[in-house]
Amino acid sequence: MPFRPEKAKKLKDTSQPEKKRATTSERGYGKIHKGMRDQLLATYPICQQCNNAFSTQAHHKRYGPDLTINDYLAVCNLCHYKLHKGEI
Ligand SMILES: [Zn+2]
Ligand SMILES: [Zn+2]
Repeated sequence: MPFRPEKAKKLKDTSQPEKKRATTSERGYGKIHKGMRDQLLATYPICQQCNNAFSTQAHHKRYGPDLTINDYLAVCNLCHYKLHKGEI
């Protein structure tokens, strides 16, 4: 894929490893728009569940065709795991 400088300009912070993140869509998190996820994690860098770890994942609070950033929860790996196990 060709490098697109006009897209790169929109990224707030390029210090984070974008290449690693891209693979999450290949692991089954593809439902969420990548831009929305990046925006969520940039807005809530700390886990919204435990406030004690960096948020790394976007959890769906609800599903639908008209989702906004408010329909996701920025959480750490552990909290996301617990959320899906029903422990939270
Ligand atoms: Zn957490
Ligand atoms: Zn989830």
